[in-house]
Amino acid sequence: MIIRNVRITGGEPADIRVTDGMITEIGPGLAGAESVDGAGAIALPGLVDLHTHLREPGREDAETVRSGTQSAARGGYTAVHAMANTSPVADTAGVVEQVWRLGREFAHCDVHPVGAVTVRLEGRQLAELGAMADSAARVRVFSDDGKCVDDAVLMRRALEYVKAFDGVVAQHAQEPRLTAGAQMNEGVVSGRLGLTGWPAVAEEAIIARDCLLAAHVGSRLHVCHVSTAGSVEIIRWAKSKGWNITAEVTPHHLLLTDDLVEESPVGAYNPIYKVNPPLRTRADVEALRAALADGTIDVVATDHAPHPVEDKETEWSAAAMGMVGLETALSVVQQAMVETGLLDWAGVAQRMSVVPARIGRLAGQGQALEAGAPANITLYDPSVRIEVDPSAFASKSRNTPFEGMTLPGRVVATFLRGRPTVLEGKLV
Ligand SMILES: [Zn+2]
Repeated sequence: MIIRNVRITGGEPADIRVTDGMITEIGPGLAGAESVDGAGAIALPGLVDLHTHLREPGREDAETVRSGTQSAARGGYTAVHAMANTSPVADTAGVVEQVWRLGREFAHCDVHPVGAVTVRLEGRQLAELGAMADSAARVRVFSDDGKCVDDAVLMRRALEYVKAFDGVVAQHAQEPRLTAGAQMNEGVVSGRLGLTGWPAVAEEAIIARDCLLAAHVGSRLHVCHVSTAGSVEIIRWAKSKGWNITAEVTPHHLLLTDDLVEESPVGAYNPIYKVNPPLRTRADVEALRAALADGTIDVVATDHAPHPVEDKETEWSAAAMGMVGLETALSVVQQAMVETGLLDWAGVAQRMSVVPARIGRLAGQGQALEAGAPANITLYDPSVRIEVDPSAFASKSRNTPFEGMTLPGRVVATFLRGRPTVLEGKLV
């Protein structure tokens, strides 16, 4: 099969020959009958998400492995890491293998389970990290995401333990006592609205501590969903020491601010903007964009967090925290990073495919599009502008803060080892 007339990471038009799931030739005017017309779209290596909540097992009303990976494919993803805060929690070899098997059976992209750091995410006792690493799921990323591993001794032990199999601990940095009852970013808006504030220091203190711990034991640390300018400063300092630290930012933290909680198109206190970590200030957004551009923040990760309507469309204080993100991620990154001149398409490919695959230690993903690489390919048309319509999502959930916004770009096609999962914007 030949994928015709695409621009590899935004370069000159070329054709891609795919044979048995691999890219075998790239060049202009390749000969061959069976072909897909790329129509000048940008070709990126299939996107890789380090932070997806697929909700299965336990909350299949919000999302399943099938629907979540359909959502991923529509967003241009060929691999996702499935977070461990399911029910039961993915804290044993048995549960991570169950998720891995569901992925093999039903998924529209590769599914790599994340293992919990502590038993039941309770922060009291280390989970079976080695057994999960040795299981069929071959877990390399461990996280209590949704909760912070706030016990410094447990965090140290986890960092030490994962060294044996080149794993990484992905920390949800949230000091629990500083954020008890917190509802939104602590600042002038939370003051005016009378909502309990979520101070930046609650994130920054944990990140600083964990960078020091990772350096002390010589291990790998990954910082989930960085949301403040101060966190960026700490990570920049830790990296300048040569420590083995990586970090991610979500699309929504690159575009939205806490002002929306007060002044959105549909009025104040709309729980669609309730998320953990919270939306921050314009100055934080600017610092996050600069950090993603200069490499202080390594990757974009969606933190795709589906919730059913009844958990979101309720009063602010009772509403669940989180936003879906897989189907809008690339468009938001185009708006926040490409159209502002901060990143080119090669830079987007690094931050949404190559580097996340490297952090997750995925062998068959995140490879540059060249002969000999697996044919994991996303075709993207950046020239259109489309109003976000959640009813068109493949996700079972609709909790997007971008509803009604006009965003640039559209995923035209996604190929997983040469097999189309999306063509002409539609699931195959
Ligand atoms: Zn989290």
